[in-house]
Amino acid sequence: MGFLAISRSIMLYPQEFDVIVVGGGHAGTEAALASARMGCATLLLTHNIETLGQMSCNPSIGGIGKGHLVKEVDALGGAMALATDEAGIQFRTLNSSKGPAVRATRAQADRILYKAAIRHRLESQPNLWLFQQAVDDLMVEGERVVGAVTQIGLRFRARAVVLTAGTFLDGKIHVGLNNYQGGRAGDPPAVSLSARLKELQLPQGRLKTGTPPRIDGRSIDFSQCEEQPGDGMPGGVNEGQLPVFSFMGSAVMHPRQVPCWITWTNERTHEIIRSGFDRSPMFTGKIEGVGPRYCPSVEDKINRFADKDSHQIFLEPEGLTTHEFYPNGISTSLPFDIQLALVRSMKGLENAHILRPGYAIEYDYFDPRSLKASFETRQIQGLFFAGQINGTTGYEEAAAQGLYAGLNAALQCRGEAPWVPARSDAYLGVLVDDLITKGVTEPYRMFTSRAEFRLQLREDNADMRLTEIGRQLGLVDDARWDAFSRKRDAVSRETQRLKTTWVNPRNLPAAESERVLGKAIEHEYKLFDLLRRPDVSYASLMSLDGGKHASSDVGVEALAELSAPVIEQVEIAAKYSGYIDRQKDDVERAAHFENLRLPPDLDYMQVAALSIEVRQTLQKRRPETLGQASRISGVTPAAISLLLVHLKKGG
Ligand code: FAD
Repeated sequence: MGFLAISRSIMLYPQEFDVIVVGGGHAGTEAALASARMGCATLLLTHNIETLGQMSCNPSIGGIGKGHLVKEVDALGGAMALATDEAGIQFRTLNSSKGPAVRATRAQADRILYKAAIRHRLESQPNLWLFQQAVDDLMVEGERVVGAVTQIGLRFRARAVVLTAGTFLDGKIHVGLNNYQGGRAGDPPAVSLSARLKELQLPQGRLKTGTPPRIDGRSIDFSQCEEQPGDGMPGGVNEGQLPVFSFMGSAVMHPRQVPCWITWTNERTHEIIRSGFDRSPMFTGKIEGVGPRYCPSVEDKINRFADKDSHQIFLEPEGLTTHEFYPNGISTSLPFDIQLALVRSMKGLENAHILRPGYAIEYDYFDPRSLKASFETRQIQGLFFAGQINGTTGYEEAAAQGLYAGLNAALQCRGEAPWVPARSDAYLGVLVDDLITKGVTEPYRMFTSRAEFRLQLREDNADMRLTEIGRQLGLVDDARWDAFSRKRDAVSRETQRLKTTWVNPRNLPAAESERVLGKAIEHEYKLFDLLRRPDVSYASLMSLDGGKHASSDVGVEALAELSAPVIEQVEIAAKYSGYIDRQKDDVERAAHFENLRLPPDLDYMQVAALSIEVRQTLQKRRPETLGQASRISGVTPAAISLLLVHLKKGG
């Protein structure tokens, strides 16, 4: 592979970098920060410094599955959770009445504050340089990427390049039957870079996503809408206790909190939408890319769920210093006259003024099955892909991949092996494994249902799972490490104390026992075992006044000294200990085969016991471990057993 001929004037930038990150979205910013934190000289090249950390669609971070990823990024020292704590104008804990595995944090963010928080982190990060220019070309020597070329012919050399171009590669924006090239509304597409990647013959396809029109809040009649306060707000759940995203965050970081509002579509809205079907780029075949099934456009919803006569629409404020509202639930690429009519057909929006039209965007993505587990491309050494370019959707999925590709690019520069978390370690492990083994047929988003070990992959323990490895990799700074170490030690001390402190019925008055435990205890119990009871909380157990009733002279009442996150860990460890232990056993049993490495030069065509289809699939996809091989579509459990026999024979 040689250089693309470049006709413009050329200048080689005097500084050489370890890692260049192309793109300043959610993937690119985390990638650049991670690489720089690990000590690599890192350059972030992006179209526009003003759009660093820009939320292309809704101003919200987190949600079920996505919140888990944000906490993992945070546990590894990433920026997203802290930036959300600084920018969040409404927080909610979703599924709060369900088990801890599926509880998730979601925040509505002020998009201006969010961008400022990300930019501040980028500008204060040592080892990180920012440069504003479109990248038009990659410098490739032999099989290896050695840098990037910008629009004005400026060449930057580096040992690794992380590409995070989002929805920009050959992006095409659709509003009704009108379309034009763009990376997202208001931003240019990356056309030359897309052409270069095609020339390099990296396997690619087209996907699409969409966004709703935005509404001027001054034209909304909120008295006709239902108010939805956030958690901790007056009238909201747990008044006075605002959720926090980062393990290093606190509610005092949050700006002023504001409510969201709810309105509904109605029969008339649906009629208006149907009347625009003949001018819909989706239904007339103008859009070829596949969109996200679980986040459909409003026209898709009305078409697919024709029997539903109303859909809930959330009116979400975009910030504290703007009147702009995001109507969540009416993403559309219908013509503008239909958009205006459909918006105005809803209660409270009769006089709505639209500030920005809704649109759909089609863009190139690259088949993630052609990535190594480290997210390095198989075809070009040193070239890593992360974010929407890998066929995913969502800020959180992008941020997690960005951090991951950035750290693996840095490890490569340091001459170290990649870090690849297992599916049982992190949602990040699930995300990476799903992408490289299964690929995508539509924009991929994270759900808790994608994780088979979700009881141990909780939001609340993301730090317990990942901060230690983050520290070893060089991603976690001293402040985070100290705070984490204190928390980990406190959890361990308190768990140990509960396991070694006995409550004796002789010392416990029946009334006291009934108050806390429901009935008198008949024999001695460890505090830990009492905490396992469904109706007993840590707080109620501590109210037993252990000084008097417990065998240990440490006493029971340590509550005041322990922080809520420590108590949460202790409580979950007790309540779910049986299930968690069983899941750990399952993980350990599976680990041997899961991690068994397949020889990189194995000639699958010679494994005669396998069907020819399986041989061809494995030959093409070259999984790195037996676990990865088992998740490739078409590779059956029987084929895995045969492959194992072949390996045992030394084949
Ligand atoms: P982006 O955020 O797109 O960032 C890419 C960055 O790369 C930008 O800074 C860009 O300027 C820069 N860049 C690109 N090419 C070059 C180049 N050649 N040179 C220099 N810089 C370059 N997600 C959801 O979860 N739900 C939704 O409903 C949803 N709807 C969306 C609707 C629209 C219209 C759009 C545009 C996006 C939507 N998304 C949605 C997706 C969400 O915005 C992305 O998942 C997320 O932003 C991806 O992050 P990223 O970092 O991969 O890319």
